[in-house]
Amino acid sequence: MFPSVLPTYNRADVAFVRGEGPYLFAEDGRRYLDFGAGIAVNAFGHAHPKLVAALTEQAGKLWHTSNLYRVPGQESLSKRLAELTFADTAFFTNSGVEACECAFKMARRYQFVSGHPEKFRILCFEGAFHGRTLAAIAAGGNAKYLEGFGPRMEGFDTIAAGDLKAVEAAVTPQTAAIMVEPIQGEGGIRVMAPDFLRGLRAICDRRGLILIFDEVATGVGRTGKLFAYEWLGVAPDIMPIAKAIGGGYPIGACLATAEAAKGMTPGTHGSTYGGNPLGMAVANAVLDLVQAPEFLPHVQAIANYLGQQLGRLLADHPTVFEEARGQGLMLGLKLRVPNTEFVAAARKEGLLVVGAGDNVVRLLPPLIIEEAEVREAMAMLSAAAKSFEAKKKIEAA
Ligand SMILES: *Cc1c(COP(=O)(O)O)cnc(C)c1O
Repeated sequence: MFPSVLPTYNRADVAFVRGEGPYLFAEDGRRYLDFGAGIAVNAFGHAHPKLVAALTEQAGKLWHTSNLYRVPGQESLSKRLAELTFADTAFFTNSGVEACECAFKMARRYQFVSGHPEKFRILCFEGAFHGRTLAAIAAGGNAKYLEGFGPRMEGFDTIAAGDLKAVEAAVTPQTAAIMVEPIQGEGGIRVMAPDFLRGLRAICDRRGLILIFDEVATGVGRTGKLFAYEWLGVAPDIMPIAKAIGGGYPIGACLATAEAAKGMTPGTHGSTYGGNPLGMAVANAVLDLVQAPEFLPHVQAIANYLGQQLGRLLADHPTVFEEARGQGLMLGLKLRVPNTEFVAAARKEGLLVVGAGDNVVRLLPPLIIEEAEVREAMAMLSAAAKSFEAKKKIEAA
């Protein structure tokens, strides 16, 4: 019989019924340490009292009105984001891919209203991930995600990341924008060199292009700053965000400068649910938590501690782990054993981690973790590694 849930995921056979901070509890009562955080979403872990209160309080008042009317939560959230970032304005969405879609449209529209309707192409990088709509798979350029879905949508070019001369050469009179994740997540926690990202800014300035940083995964504290671009000293023109900004409630946003957004006049874009009162209440509460003065220093400190512990883990298990990489609490372990098998082995030990491209497992813990939980995770990663070492010994014998 065909599965009643469309089988587009290879799901692990475990279902969670409850969460508490960095822990999840399965149907059978087993406790798991969640170092996936719903793929970098649950920045404050599960069932954070402040977020539960924000959602339930709003739920008793008003859920949805549509964007035909003013939504006060959107006005406060967008003002706060504007104060905290390079941006002047925000369009609210229900997901990361919708925030990226808004970015694509905004960049093209900017060129259109600037007298350059011929500029519509967006230059992207190998290993990129921007979501799963037709436009986003065209932007991502991953052949596996494109196969069987008809011709790749026109207007997206893909080149290797890291080489500014190659970027310069790939910009044509039709190029509207360059889009990049400061750290590729799905692609395998590939950190873009700061000089490369700064160089993209310079190319965009020189050639009249829009620079888009996709911070859907890197944003909202994950790297130890509110947004990853803050480490660089340069800012994008447009920035899709999502994941952690909702703390588990599905929201996203496309942030932009007033200049980049100048083409987005009434009627040019829309969403029925985007920025509804429930999501805005939660996102405003998430921002309260992120803005607490001790919060980002905590992320940086715990990330340092985790990094040191990973160094030891790698030294102890050289036949399983090849390399640790990433920034803040967006970390990846490149493996010498199949990553899908390692994810399953870690889960057997009680630790949830997430696979990624380039045979990497991602460690994306809630940003609230403490040293004791880091040590607990290290013990489980070490036990998972030992299960492979034992297998290798048997094979060698
Ligand atoms: C997750 C992700 C997206 C897509 O977000 P969805 O909410 O799944 O649509 C886009 N870009 C990046 C960098 C992501 O990590």
